[in-house]
Order: sequence, then C-alpha cells, then structure tokens
Amino acid sequence: MISKRVRELAPYKTETTEAKVRLSSNELSLQLPEDVKKRIGEEVSRIPFNRYPDPEARELKEVIALRFGVKPENIVLGNGSDELIYYLSIAVGEFSSGVFCPVPTFSMYSISAQVLGRERIEVRLNEEFDIDLQKSLEVIRKKKPALAYFAYPNNPTGNCFSEEGIRAIRNQGVFTIVDEAYYHYSGKTFLKEALEREDTVVLRTLSKIGMAGLRVGILIGKEEVVKEINKIRLPFNITYPSQVIAVLILRDFYHIIEEAIQTVISERQRVYKEMLKMEGIRVYPSEANFIFFKSLYLSGDELYKRLLRKGVLVRNFSYMVANCLRVSIGEREENDAFLQALHEVLTTS
Ligand code: PMP
Repeated sequence: MISKRVRELAPYKTETTEAKVRLSSNELSLQLPEDVKKRIGEEVSRIPFNRYPDPEARELKEVIALRFGVKPENIVLGNGSDELIYYLSIAVGEFSSGVFCPVPTFSMYSISAQVLGRERIEVRLNEEFDIDLQKSLEVIRKKKPALAYFAYPNNPTGNCFSEEGIRAIRNQGVFTIVDEAYYHYSGKTFLKEALEREDTVVLRTLSKIGMAGLRVGILIGKEEVVKEINKIRLPFNITYPSQVIAVLILRDFYHIIEEAIQTVISERQRVYKEMLKMEGIRVYPSEANFIFFKSLYLSGDELYKRLLRKGVLVRNFSYMVANCLRVSIGEREENDAFLQALHEVLTTS
C-alpha cells in the first residue's frame, strides 16, 4: 500500500503549456551553431548504447572541476540538482530532525523533506525578500533543524539573501546548502566556505547555462562530505549521452555559453528598465536570469492568462505570493515580444 506520507503529496508542478514565446522555466535561450550541433551528433553516434556509462562520470567531473575552479574530489554529480537536493535531505541529520528554508523559494527543498517524512520548517521572507533573521533564529533554536536550504539568488524572487543572515543560521549548528543554480548571473558564491567547511555545500547546475535537457547538477563540498554523499548516489545517474554532450560543450564550446550568459545579463538590465516604466506592475531587482514582478491592478491569474493569449508564457506565482509572476530572460526578440505583450495588456484592460 502507498503510504499516507506519499498519498498526501501534491504532484510537482512544471509549466508545460504550449506557447510561441516560452519564458517560464529559467532556461538559457541558446542557439548552437550548425557545425557545433553536427559535432555533437557525431559524438553521440559513437556512444556504445549497450554499455553502461562511467558510473563516476570522471571525464565530466574533470571538465566541470576545471571550469568551476575546484577539484574532481570536491564534486558529486546528480541527475539535475533536483536529485542532489534529495540526496542531501536523505544524508544530513536524522529523519526526526527538520529541514529549514526561507519561503517563498524553490519548492524541491520542501518536497524532498516531505517525501522523507521530515518536518518542514519554513519562515516567510521579509518585505525585501530577505531572510527574516529574528523569526528564523527563534524557530531554529526551538526546532533545531539539521539542514537549511538557501537559493542564492532565490527563485522566484531573484535576489541574493544577506550573507550574514545565512551565516547566522549556520552558526546555530545547521548544515547549510547554498543553492547557486543562478550563480552565473549573480557572480556571488559561498564556494570558498564550501571547500573549507564541513557544514556547508554549494549546489550548481548546467540547467541554467544552456543544458537543461542534459540533467546535470553539481554538488561542491569538502572531500570528506562529498565522499559520504557519494555513497547514496544511484549508480549511473548521469546518462551516457549527457556525459558525452556536456564534456564536449564545456570543453570545446564554453565560449558560446559565456557569451550567451553575458547577453542575458545585459538583456535583464534592459527588460528591468523597460518594465520599471510601465504602470500597473511593481518590478523587483534581479541577480538571476529572470525577473519577479507584481501585478497591481489586474489579478496575477488574469495577467498570466492575457499574456498567454498573446503567445507569451511566463510563470504564475500568485499561489505563493499574491499577484506575482516571474518572467525568464530570453533572447532579445523573445524579451521584446514579452515587453510588447505586457505593455498591451496593461494599457488595454
Ligand atoms: N535550484 C533552484 C534554485 C532552481 O530554481 C532549480 C530549477 N528551477 C533547481 C535547483 C533545479 O535545477 P536542475 O535542473 O539542476 O534540477
């Protein structure tokens, strides 16, 4: 029989609605040149599919280590950082202890806790979307969670929490996971601390830098911590094609990725400024590849529907934060389509 614990779970929601312009999942709009695609095709055709891939994905770990400035021994790879979030929630502390995170945030932290029957300890962010430190410390002293997740920058709000807040929570003896899925758009990191301390790890992913389809998440920490997490990793969790394609792109074509990241950062600034000029929304500053905004007159649900009717798909977060939506930064033409649709919706209601 399926446990009550599982029956009570809500299925994970992803945005699969069809639309001409999809700006809902914080992917990187990356157009690889034809010759690069051809190279990928050639490499993939050489894969012996009847064989298991390297269970340790050693070559991929080496390339990632080089690109991210760490050693392969500091890395655990996951089938997306989603899988690594599960591993951390399994590995850190006893299941009788809780999992802390400030909310609203990425839902997988709570889902992984709930699946394991661990208590979810959530504290609302303050008005500036930063950690409410006083309340958090109060709750933490009382409930003594074993681990805490901080999306840095936070999804969906787009800001980085104050570093002092994160450290103050860690000082309560809480194992600290700094999820830097959007690191390439913020440049801010806890990497040094993750490499030096046994109570801190950093999560990164290839998903937000153009390779979401490959499902490669990266945990970075001290060798001692990495060794333990690796014990619960499912063997062969990174598929053969993912290993081959990610190695090729990160090794030989990383400059294309870097260029696309820079374009998104400058587009984010342009879109933000254009949105600031519009009446009927409040726009929040972002250090990620998306922008969070609030609809002031129309309901969030209505604004979402009207944008969709104009062919633009964003993510509706009204169920989490009243009347708030999130738009990913895409290519210039996609962003223009969004800005045009938003302008029309706001001026013709
Ligand atoms: N962390 C954060 C903060 C995210 O926003 C996401 C994706 N939405 C993830 C992790 C999951 O990324 P992945 O594709 O690597 O599983």
